[in-house]
Amino acid sequence: MLEKWFEFIFDHKISLRERMFRVVTGICMLALIFIMPMGRSWFNMLLLAASLVTMALVVRFSIKKECINGGATFITVLLLVLFPLSFFTAGGFYSGMPEWFVLCFVYISITLEGRRKAGFFLLCALETLSCYYVAFYYPELVAKNTQRHSFFDSAASVIMVGVLTSVMLMFLNKLYEEENELSKRQKKEIEELNKAENHFFASMSHEIRTPINTIIGLNEIILRGDIPQDVAENARNIQGASKILLTLINDILDLSKIKSGKMEIVNVSYETGALFSEIVNMIWIKAKEKGLEFRLHVDSSIPSMLCGDEVRIKQVLINLLNNALKYTSEGSITLSVRCERLGLNRVRVWYAVEDTGQGVKKENIPYIFNAFKRVDQEKNRRIEGTGLGLSIVQQLVELMGGEISVNSVYMKGSTFIVMLEQDIVDDKELGTFTLASRARRHEGKQYQQSFEAPEAHILVVDDNDMNLMVVRKLLSETKIQLDTVLSGAECLKMTQEQHYDAILMDHLMPEMDGIQCLHRLRTQPGGLCQDTPVIALTANAGSDNQLLYKKEGFSGYLAKPVSGALLEAAVLSVLPKELVNLTEEAEQSEIGKDILIFEQTQRLSVMVTTDSVCDLPEDLRKEFRISVCPYYVCTDKGRFLDEVELKADELLLHMAEGQNARSEAPLVEDYERFFAEKLTEAQNVIHITMAKHASQGYYNALEAAKSFENVTVLDSGHLSSSLGLSVLYAASMAEQHATKAEIVKLVNGLKRYISSAFIINSTHTMCQAGQIPKRIQVVCDALLLHPVIELKKSKMVVSGMEMGDFVHMIKHYVRKVLLDSRNIDRRILFITYAGLEDRSIAYIQKLVKQYCPFERVYLQKASSAIACNCGSGSFGLLFMKKNDVARSFLQASGMEEEK
Ligand code: ADP
Repeated sequence: MLEKWFEFIFDHKISLRERMFRVVTGICMLALIFIMPMGRSWFNMLLLAASLVTMALVVRFSIKKECINGGATFITVLLLVLFPLSFFTAGGFYSGMPEWFVLCFVYISITLEGRRKAGFFLLCALETLSCYYVAFYYPELVAKNTQRHSFFDSAASVIMVGVLTSVMLMFLNKLYEEENELSKRQKKEIEELNKAENHFFASMSHEIRTPINTIIGLNEIILRGDIPQDVAENARNIQGASKILLTLINDILDLSKIKSGKMEIVNVSYETGALFSEIVNMIWIKAKEKGLEFRLHVDSSIPSMLCGDEVRIKQVLINLLNNALKYTSEGSITLSVRCERLGLNRVRVWYAVEDTGQGVKKENIPYIFNAFKRVDQEKNRRIEGTGLGLSIVQQLVELMGGEISVNSVYMKGSTFIVMLEQDIVDDKELGTFTLASRARRHEGKQYQQSFEAPEAHILVVDDNDMNLMVVRKLLSETKIQLDTVLSGAECLKMTQEQHYDAILMDHLMPEMDGIQCLHRLRTQPGGLCQDTPVIALTANAGSDNQLLYKKEGFSGYLAKPVSGALLEAAVLSVLPKELVNLTEEAEQSEIGKDILIFEQTQRLSVMVTTDSVCDLPEDLRKEFRISVCPYYVCTDKGRFLDEVELKADELLLHMAEGQNARSEAPLVEDYERFFAEKLTEAQNVIHITMAKHASQGYYNALEAAKSFENVTVLDSGHLSSSLGLSVLYAASMAEQHATKAEIVKLVNGLKRYISSAFIINSTHTMCQAGQIPKRIQVVCDALLLHPVIELKKSKMVVSGMEMGDFVHMIKHYVRKVLLDSRNIDRRILFITYAGLEDRSIAYIQKLVKQYCPFERVYLQKASSAIACNCGSGSFGLLFMKKNDVARSFLQASGMEEEK
């Protein structure tokens, strides 16, 4: 039985906690067996024996039911009952029982978990103290011991508890050591497994590429021939399927590299113009074929040379552009590049890939970057993909220290924005550049030969017969004289006898690999090819190989499987010009003509927008580039766009004739459209809405913003021009290049410093709009009461009442609002009104001048959406109270002198 117990204890398949529970409880049971003889009475002995049986049963039961904490609690309670009983019957502190209390503490600390542990610990301490207290003050309750008995009992207990605790600790120590050893072993195994996995992926990729090379190469030869339509169709399908297989292999390889932390970011100097050329070369023709317009907007001020991981940047952008192509069936695809200087030597570059395709549903946006996740499966069923692309893109961007975000409106289109910071190598501005045209064939098209070079002599080195055959066939039309060899050694033999104009060299070959062979070639005594350009032609996947081959001295790099067109283009680029006769087609195939390159209209970093109910003068809105999303005004004659289709004066006239009118916030779709449009002008949009409890606008805008990562919606807590004030401050901050976070902080901070008290001339409109009950309106009318509406915590509240005729009302209101003139920021005041006569306005102005003159006073007509709620004759004095929030920003941005 003991053997079985030990087996259990060291069985790693059983949880550590369960094993500890067994060890510690087992030792406590041993302790009980030892205590038994100490009991004076049979009752005591029986109690201990019963407890032992109970404990054994509890252990069994709790392990079976996987409720160890429960079992341990039960046993702790048992011990807490048993030990005091034994304490008093065995002789109190003149016995060995105090030591057994120590064991109880140890039991609690090892077996219990969470709050229970702390609770029982405290209980045990209290119980021990209570036992001591009772034994001291009421000695008559304690069984008497002889001194001799006490001595032996105490000594035996010390030794027993000591031994048991030590055994317990030794066991636990052993358990921990074993666990430690096990986890070390497992870690090593995982590392080895990872290594094996990576090795597997790398070699699998290599091994699969070789046969795909043959499939694609020979398939291309079939396509070049004069073949029947159905055969051509099959061949094209084979071509498509092989390409997908290839992308999949590359993606899996990249993902495994990123996962194992082996993906290195290699920053090199690169020409920005060349990068864009290359990308456009790859995309434009596909777009054209699909009937899509391809647009390129490049900021002309981008430095001509930057330092970054050119290969990865290209990979990211091509991936995004390919997605845009895949998921767009009509319209356009736009690549925009914008840069922002961060200092002398650094720039922040924003790459935006925009399409007018199907977009992504709001609820799917959070998942599109997950590996293997394809959203909207129903719709995308016919679109090839694995769901790996964006996951790789996101991880690459993060590895480069950048950020990626997406804005998408379902059925309208998507914009993926990548931000990367890079060092400037050459500060010269790129300017408006024309693309270097490079002839590129497109796979779906009939093969067209680009040149002939019958005088040229090329050597191809590859250990695989099939690969050699494919290259030979792919270059056959060029009439180049071609020699092939199967190893590095044979290559070196040939180059001693024959001069070659170019060499195509496989990388991974047994005995001597391509790199070693190239090095030997360069220093070969008497070699005839010491200066011959050598192109690496390899199945060794990974887009970062380009760098490796460049560093080793290759003139170019082609990844297998290679298309005939690419192979020709590569050979063409290294062959001496005098040996080459270009075909007419190739000479004319300038692609630059097909692509329009516009200079980038400067996109703002942050744009502040709001709703039409902001009641800001148009010139201010223009000056600060504040765009507004129009509210609706619903009348008996229909629904109108606030201020665009229905002006306030016209509306008030209709209302005077007895027509009903009410305002309605823009719908979620309206906001979506609005944000999508604004994001073409700015990288980030901060939309400030009317007080959230006064209108649905805030919630609709918030819902719409979920489609865009770069839209932030803020509740101004106000309405009309007091909302306008908040917007104005935010917009001027944006103009000073404040960050999004700074603007958000300012808007939230300003809320409580904006004074927005409106006086309502007649409660009739409010009653009509359902804001107050009819009986209140009747009372107000009868008593000539005019409510003052204020905004508190984004809610409209009636903060006071003015009584009397119109002139009285104006006078009292103005005086009250401007009473605390010392605390008023006197720079800007808005007198925002609905249907006021010039006379009344002049009177208000006069009063303002008298009580608290302002530097700038804007007389602003309320928009129709506001006017329909407050009615004719209502107005408000809207200004800012003195505060540190705005002042510290204005000082920091140099807009205000520090006093
Ligand atoms: P794949 O395209 O292979 O499915 P990705 O990781 O590239 O995988 O994209 C994940 C998902 O994101 C796609 O399945 C698609 O639903 C969505 N998606 C990506 N780009 C776009 C886009 N430009 N327009 C619409 N949906 C897109």
